[in-house]
This record gives sequence, C-alpha cells and structure tokens, in this order.
Amino acid sequence: MEKCVSCPRRCGVDRRVNKGFCGVGDEIIVSRAAPHYWEEPSISGEKGSGAIFFSGCNLKCVFCQNSAISTGKLGKVVTVSQLADLMLKLQSDGVHNINLVTPSHYTSRISIAIYTARERGLTVPIVWNSNAYEDVSELRRLDGKVDIYLPDFKYKSPVLSARYSHAADYFERAVDALDEMVLQRGGAEFEGDLMRRGVIVRHLVLPDCIEDSKSVLSFLHRRYGNAIYISVMSQYTPVGKNLPDSLGRPLTAAEYDEIKAYALRIGITQGYFQEGDSVGESFIPSFDLTGV
Ligand code: SF4
Repeated sequence: MEKCVSCPRRCGVDRRVNKGFCGVGDEIIVSRAAPHYWEEPSISGEKGSGAIFFSGCNLKCVFCQNSAISTGKLGKVVTVSQLADLMLKLQSDGVHNINLVTPSHYTSRISIAIYTARERGLTVPIVWNSNAYEDVSELRRLDGKVDIYLPDFKYKSPVLSARYSHAADYFERAVDALDEMVLQRGGAEFEGDLMRRGVIVRHLVLPDCIEDSKSVLSFLHRRYGNAIYISVMSQYTPVGKNLPDSLGRPLTAAEYDEIKAYALRIGITQGYFQEGDSVGESFIPSFDLTGV
C-alpha cells in the first residue's frame, strides 16, 4: 500500500494518501453484499451465490457494466474483520458460496479476511470473480484460500484491449494470471450440480469483435483443455454514452450464434452458453449498499 504495485498497472502510489488507476486508497470499499442468482448454474445454484461487490477497478473498460462502482466513489468502508463477518452473514443466509466480485486491488486484505472468516466458521467455497488483469505474486497469496477462480478473459488483440480497457498488455498478463489459477485450482470438482473447486473462464462477446472472440476461445481451449470450463457470454449491454465503434449496440443473435458454432466446432465441451434473455440492464444489480 505504501508503493502499490499490486497489479499490472504498477502505479507506485502510496495508497494511504493517494489513489492509483483503480480509484481507491488503502481502505476496503464494498457496495453490495447479497445473494446473486445470475452467475453460471454451478455457481448460483438454487439459493444463489453470496456476491460481495467491491468498489474500484484496475481496468475501467469503456463499456463497463458496473460503472456505478468501478470508479471507486460508491460504497461503504469496511474493515478486514467486518468483511469476514459479511461472508459469514451471507453463509447464514444460505448461499452456496462467497463470490468476491472485482477484488484484485484488495487482494492482500481480502486474503486475511478469508482466513479470518474460516477461523470464525466459514465453510462454503470462496469464488474469485476477477478481470484477470492481475499480478501473479498477489494471486499466490490466495493459494489454499480461494476454491473457485472465475476470471474474465476479455481480449487477445492488444489493439482492442488498449482501446477498450486501457491495457495493451492485457492478454499477456491475463495468461500469466490464468496459468497461476489453473496451477492452483485446475480440474473441477462438483458436489451435485454445484462446483466445489475449479476454474471457469468467462468471455464476453463484444459487438463487431467476433474474430477476436474466436482467437480467445481457440487459445483457451488449446492451452488449458479440460482443466477449465469456458463460459461464453452474450449479455453485453451498452451502458453510457459515446461508446466507440459498435459498442453502442447489443450483440446480435447472428454474432452470438457464430461464436457458439465456432466453440463447438473446435471441440469445447466443458462450459456454458447464455440464453437470449440475458441481455439488459435488469441483469445489472443495484449498488445501493444492500447487505453492507
Ligand atoms: S492496485 Fe490500484 S494503485 Fe495498485 S497498481 Fe493496481 S491500479 Fe495501481
């Protein structure tokens, strides 16, 4: 925190007094802690995933679906001990797991909170729901603490990642991060229909980015095979004004069908497709401090 290099941005700021690219200082800020029913079926189950949404983000994609909190300006400050108690409260509500959403800029604090929660009786799996633009040494703090990695894998093209997420090196850093996640948790285990440990990699298909989506899916399948599940998402929703290129419109059914057919053609068998009604702002939760 004194000279933050916790993620590939490597801002080097003193987060006790300043903010880096992620937009938050050294305090943990949470904007929502509540059951969430719209993750993959093996994560949400019937009782929901206990989603804790963190404020701030180290990518700040121009099309961000959670822009209300990615700036770091909305939320409530919680201590490590209070964060552990939020996890325990969600467990007592009956959720299947604790789902830490956009957590990467708080990794060291969260790793202590997970340890604390386990000491206090947390037994459900921990899900690390990140954008994959992460530092491997930070991820090693989570070895033995996180049960399920649920990272995005957004782009292969450095042109797209620079244009849409301000990170020309996204692909290289995401590969490093995913290698570490697979090393820790590759090869899934289930209890009934629910994942108990494993890696699910999400790819959100963007309008007019079909060739890059194919490159991403091909790369993931060749490199990791059945060590991972792949979730191919169609839920892109235009949020905000002045979005570049074709980002001002939803993905078309024809575009998503082309990607689904491609995924099946190259032999991806472990994974998920989304249904057509997944698109829309109603899919985005309210960041109104529920549960915090
Ligand atoms: S965690 Fe935040 S401050 Fe630290 S390097 Fe990443 S973006 Fe910069």
